[in-house]
Amino acid sequence: MMSPRWESLREALKKRLSPQAYATWVAQMSLVDDDGSTLKLGLPDSFSLNWINDHYRDVLEEELGPLHRLELILHRPENPTEAVTARPGPAMSSPAAPAEEPLPIPLPAEASNGHVPAPHFRPEPPDEPPISPHRLNQRYTFASFVVGPANELAWSACQSLVDNRSPTFNPLVIVGSVGLGKTHLLHGIGHSLLKKRPNIKLLIKTSEEFVTEVIQGIRAQRMDELRRTYRACDVLLIDDIQFISGKEACQEEFFHTFNALYDSQKQIVVSSDRLPHEITDIQERVRSRFQWGLIADLKLPELETRTAILKKKAEAESIPLPDDVALYIAQSVRTNIRELEGCLVRVHAYASLTKQTLTLTLAREVLKSLVQDRGRALTCEIIVKTVSSVFDVKVADLKSTKRARNIALPRQVAMYLCRKHTTASYPEIGQALGGKDHTTALNAFQRISERLADPEVKSRVDEIERQLLE
Ligand code: ADP
Ligand code: MG
Repeated sequence: MMSPRWESLREALKKRLSPQAYATWVAQMSLVDDDGSTLKLGLPDSFSLNWINDHYRDVLEEELGPLHRLELILHRPENPTEAVTARPGPAMSSPAAPAEEPLPIPLPAEASNGHVPAPHFRPEPPDEPPISPHRLNQRYTFASFVVGPANELAWSACQSLVDNRSPTFNPLVIVGSVGLGKTHLLHGIGHSLLKKRPNIKLLIKTSEEFVTEVIQGIRAQRMDELRRTYRACDVLLIDDIQFISGKEACQEEFFHTFNALYDSQKQIVVSSDRLPHEITDIQERVRSRFQWGLIADLKLPELETRTAILKKKAEAESIPLPDDVALYIAQSVRTNIRELEGCLVRVHAYASLTKQTLTLTLAREVLKSLVQDRGRALTCEIIVKTVSSVFDVKVADLKSTKRARNIALPRQVAMYLCRKHTTASYPEIGQALGGKDHTTALNAFQRISERLADPEVKSRVDEIERQLLE
């Protein structure tokens, strides 16, 4: 089918978006129908569909103009090369699997009024088998993973991977600093895949295990055997891939294994504590393989997610956890979920050993040294300074009564962040910003909470939080 509208929309997007965004998202879209008033476009999987809806729908509608309606549906084109031109490398030339489901698959009713429902992935019911032949950690399932804004991308990429038979993103690279859930997600993928396809050949390794096996293989001259094992799997998951840095033979081996699996459309997932371009001592060709696929990063979860994680964990371990204690722990530990859980375990252990009920006072007492030692406690002063540098306005202006927009917004952001990241009260926050009234601080908090829906405001706030929590 031909549609000039679709052609010109594509042209406009090509100009408007970065080449990478275009190649990753737009090139996946295929024309399903154009009846003159509604342009119907298809995406090959639900992950891409949700992503486009969340991130590019506005742009698409703007470029399309107010006279036309846009409908996005799940649709795998019959002629795959038409749509899947985004992926470089061997996958491009190898024929993609034919469509498995009847096409097209319209979404539920809401889709027809121009709005596809927001991504909503239901976690799996927690009935994992008691022992796992793949040495999967039984606690690390999708069901026990708490999803929030900071890990949503990585989470939905993992879901999409489990849902699709042939790889959509290959490799999937999960990036995040220590304790943010990389291993958990990797094992979650393992559990869910095995549940869905019990005969799937799944290989999950830490990169230390991989390195050891390669070294032993070389020594014992058993590399052929090792290669066969690795290359026979359907899904290869390697945790903490950054450890192959500086290990030439292992990189060599990984490179060839990667290519073999990739060529036969087998899924590869790796995790890393840093972005591929930040891994030192790694062959350029290995690094470039990581850039072929989707890099999904885990950011620092915000307070709400941290609290939810604590509650979920407490529930799983039958620890009675009052809300104020959960909040206190979540406020005290910001950068590492493992430490967050550690604090919970610690206060619980203390309470049960001393036969006391777990209260806020007790938790403060037990965690006092820990929380202070870190010296990371944020103050309003630090927040105001960081806001001033990110927005490039003077601290004095933030504390002044000037009402110009370019000062009022950062001021409100500062108040919002003080409330979110310190225990300061509204009057104290008002004080910290040059003696404002407590209602000003309260209004600022509410106003910014709402304005986070605006991507521009949100990206500034994210950037400040990133700097604050570093
Ligand atoms: P990493 O591999 O990134 O260092 P892990 O996957 O080992 O981190 O996670 C550290 C701990 O935090 C684990 O116990 C994991 O279950 C927990 N965790 C991390 N993120 C989440 C989350 N979003 N929901 C629930 N638990 C989480
Ligand atoms: Mg890990």
